[in-house]
Amino acid sequence: MKKAIVIGSGFGGLAIACRLRKKNFDVTILEKQSNFGGRARALEHNGFIYDAGPTVITAPYLIEELFTMHNKNWSDYYELLRVKPYYRFIFSDHTYFDYGDNLREMIRQIEEKYSRTDAKGYIKLLKLSKRIFKTAYEELSDKPFKTLQSMLPYLPELLRIKFYKSVYASVESHIDNENLVKALSMHPLLIGGNPYTTTSIYLLIQYLEWKWGVYYAKGGTRSIVAGLEQLLNEIGVNCIKNIEVESISSRNNSVTEVHTSEGNYDADLVVSNADPTTFYKTVIKRNPKKLSNKPAVLKHSMSLFVLYFSTKKIYENVQHHTIIFNKRHKSLLTDIFNKKNPIDDPSLYLHRPLKTDPSGQQQNSDSFYVLAPVANNQSKIDWNKVGEKFSKVVFDMLDEYILPDVKENLVDHFFVTPDYFEKELNTYAGSGFGIQPIFRQSAYFRYSNKSKEYDNLYFVGASTHPGAGVPGVISTAKATEKLILEDYDIN
Ligand SMILES: Cc1cc2nc3c(=O)[nH]c(=O)nc-3n(C[C@H](O)[C@H](O)[C@H](O)COP(=O)(O)OP(=O)(O)OC[C@H]3O[C@@H](n4cnc5c(N)ncnc54)[C@H](O)[C@@H]3O)c2cc1C
Repeated sequence: MKKAIVIGSGFGGLAIACRLRKKNFDVTILEKQSNFGGRARALEHNGFIYDAGPTVITAPYLIEELFTMHNKNWSDYYELLRVKPYYRFIFSDHTYFDYGDNLREMIRQIEEKYSRTDAKGYIKLLKLSKRIFKTAYEELSDKPFKTLQSMLPYLPELLRIKFYKSVYASVESHIDNENLVKALSMHPLLIGGNPYTTTSIYLLIQYLEWKWGVYYAKGGTRSIVAGLEQLLNEIGVNCIKNIEVESISSRNNSVTEVHTSEGNYDADLVVSNADPTTFYKTVIKRNPKKLSNKPAVLKHSMSLFVLYFSTKKIYENVQHHTIIFNKRHKSLLTDIFNKKNPIDDPSLYLHRPLKTDPSGQQQNSDSFYVLAPVANNQSKIDWNKVGEKFSKVVFDMLDEYILPDVKENLVDHFFVTPDYFEKELNTYAGSGFGIQPIFRQSAYFRYSNKSKEYDNLYFVGASTHPGAGVPGVISTAKATEKLILEDYDIN
């Protein structure tokens, strides 16, 4: 059996470990943290357990496949609950709009709250989203791009769907109402992109949500991670935690060994699920900008300030996923993504799992997390100094918009800043989602699923093709597996 070392246990790492084990590799996962999941790990505080990251589960078949390929029934490991509505959007004028899970009802709501023209515009937008989905998702999401030429056959269709337009511009060309445009163009933010610069290819997420629905895992996303870990143990994958890969050694352009804080591991092949920019800089010790397909300036995604908290008050009327838009939109995103300025008027995403999963209640409380997109650490903001103050800004906003008296009702709270992503999860500049989903960092131009320097070094995860988000990173494992099977001549 060939020895495969997987570095990192994010969803991408877990998925490639399942896939390689199926193909009879002897697989070992090396994870820096004390628990699996990466950005999707669980955080514990004062006896409360919180999902650290992803809470919106879409395209669930991608996770299910990892179990069925090993002749296991995924529903023996975790349970999915449908989320209704998918999202509630609250605007700075305190009006709101519910998105999903009933299309007819949503169209009716658009007619009633906005206009018949916008309702018709949305139907057209969804048709465009479906068309993009057919090419960009169904044909390309698990296809590795080895050469620039491999993108050429898709260029005519990409031109027809106007990939050069941004998601925001595409939505704006279908919808008049400004609030509705903000809401319907927010999806890039879920994968680390600015709606004003993210290629309209990512409009496909809308259709993907409608096609398969939006889910929450009973007991939290951590129950899926735990299910995958149980599966890996059952199929004989060696799972090692609290171990950080620091360097590699190689012979004849092949990695032969990875060196860790706890000793060395022989490898026939290595798959890194670590953030590639950091991995190139600190483990391979090369400048990623010197890679042939990389632009001179790599644009990394924004980071996040995430505040986890529980309250003794139960906020019955609060939906599961609420997005609150502050007054500023374009200039706020420019401050965060481009200028890397500190902000004090964030827009927020609030997660309230109790709405979908009453069985997950902890200590008779309501548990939440709220996140605010903020500049990544290229900003040089000292979060040790400003973190506490920023948490007050966030609580004040929650109090005003959605959770009255939240501060008086707190029984637990703590926050993480871009420093958590940089120092704990090794992401470059504390970026929350890897490199941004702009066209010049997509497909062939994203980090390659196979290294250009070593014959047996591969990559999975948010910065590789097709990109961030749980469905995205699980698809990176499918693309990478194809390359490995080709290289090792396995069917
Ligand atoms: C707060 C937040 C909310 C999100 N919400 C959603 C959502 O609702 N739905 C959705 O689909 N997506 C969401 N996302 C995006 C999604 O979580 C990520 O894109 C995805 O989980 C990233 O997976 P990954 O495979 O890239 O690995 P990561 O999660 O980045 O994991 C990489 C792992 O590698 C480990 N590692 C790094 N370097 C080393 C080393 N040298 N040695 C050993 N181990 C190492 C790290 O510790 C980490 O565990 C969210 C992200 C965040 C941050």
